[in-house]
Amino acid sequence: MSKSRRDAELRFRCSICWKGFKHPMSLTLHKDLHSGKTKCPVCLRSFSRSYDMRIHLSKIHKITLKLDAKLNIKNISGLK
Ligand SMILES: [Zn+2]
Ligand SMILES: [Zn+2]
Repeated sequence: MSKSRRDAELRFRCSICWKGFKHPMSLTLHKDLHSGKTKCPVCLRSFSRSYDMRIHLSKIHKITLKLDAKLNIKNISGLK
């Protein structure tokens, strides 16, 4: 019964595609995929992580996401 044991390890399930993850952080990163955050706005290529998409943007299109910087500022002021 190695299959069910392995399945139990993946406690964090994506409610959209039902993919399982061991860590909640992996699931959070995965959810970016469904919310379109991992999609390149220029060539519409999809990435598994938003981080990879940002790397792609700066390397291929020479673009740095300014929207993301705005979000970071919001987060920082929210913490204060
Ligand atoms: Zn999913
Ligand atoms: Zn692109």
